[in-house]
Amino acid sequence: MLPYDELLSDLQQKSLYRELRTIEEVQGPIVRIRDRSIVNFSSNDYLGLSQHPSVKAAAKAAIDEFGAGSGASRLISGTSSAHTKFEEEIAAFKSAERALLFGTGYAAAVGTISSLVGPGDVVILDKLAHACLIDGAKLSGAFLRVFPHNNTAKLKHHLAWARQTYPHGKVLIVTESVFSMDGDFGKLVELAALKAEYQALLLVDEAHATGVIGPHGEGLAAALGLTQEVDIQMGTLSKALGASGGFICGSKTLIRLLVNRARSFIYSTALPPSSAAAASAALKIIPSKQGDILRSRLQSNVLDLVRRLTPAGRQASDPISPIFPVVIGDEQRTLQLSEILYQSGLLAPAIRYPTVARGAARLRIALNSSHSVEQIQTLAQTIIAFR
Ligand SMILES: *Cc1c(COP(=O)(O)O)cnc(C)c1O
Repeated sequence: MLPYDELLSDLQQKSLYRELRTIEEVQGPIVRIRDRSIVNFSSNDYLGLSQHPSVKAAAKAAIDEFGAGSGASRLISGTSSAHTKFEEEIAAFKSAERALLFGTGYAAAVGTISSLVGPGDVVILDKLAHACLIDGAKLSGAFLRVFPHNNTAKLKHHLAWARQTYPHGKVLIVTESVFSMDGDFGKLVELAALKAEYQALLLVDEAHATGVIGPHGEGLAAALGLTQEVDIQMGTLSKALGASGGFICGSKTLIRLLVNRARSFIYSTALPPSSAAAASAALKIIPSKQGDILRSRLQSNVLDLVRRLTPAGRQASDPISPIFPVVIGDEQRTLQLSEILYQSGLLAPAIRYPTVARGAARLRIALNSSHSVEQIQTLAQTIIAFR
């Protein structure tokens, strides 16, 4: 017997216990679970590209060419032409000098932050930064400071403190462009100005923006023309790119540093060539006319849901992301709503502590370009009836 029964039943009592749910088949936004068809409102495959014929064909072709796995870490013999091709393409797409692939976005964050800063340096994070960014900051051994979400006045205060306390240290600001659990935007213009004023470094995680935000889906930093100011553009292949893996874009020096220092890059097997090839195919679609059509469908789905769920008289904020939080607060009630939706054939898991703050439990609705008006209508009606 392992001594964890009490801990687990405590989680159950607090409505914080989590369980896996197995999906048996995927058809567009419909998944099959225990022989039932359920509309998935929780996937980050915003443009449906994981299902796109040319993305799937590229993965299959790469398996035939290189095999199912990459066989070694990148520095040993795991770097294939599928990896380097994607790195060149994503660097160009993000207007950066170079790019580097990691096994996952999580690994990219942890390896990168711990390469950039260490003891004697300071990391300043937005309060709502993703767990992988926090873990990277903790692992680095740098001094950690957190500013309230998007509160640039408090960030400025921390920057002044950091410059005074660690005059010779590096200072790294970490934020997201589209926040993963709230769907709102980081204040990149203000952050870029502050980073210049205090000679800090700026890392922006574009996990939920890449492919979706900006005229060509290039993400918020590139769309705002801030690629010179954002020293480290981070992203993942696992969301709108429909594949799996993580990446960092930036200067030649940054990428050389990571190849030599990022432990999650050095000591981990390269992601499968098929993932890189699939992401390359997705990256061809994203800035194309077809990509524009997918993004505009996504946009109208988001607007539709926002209109249905925003209380009358309140303006939906602009611009909008595909993530729409329905904050319920109480953990047990959130689970209850999620269960009611599931019984109505809609999948929207309850997001609870520690993913979000205690008492800020929510459904995180993730829309995608292939949801139908009827599906969104059923979702909205079920939520409104519960409220
Ligand atoms: C999903 C996510 C990651 C991690 O990316 P993976 O490729 O899934 O490991 C990093 N940052 C944010 C904000 C995310 O939402």
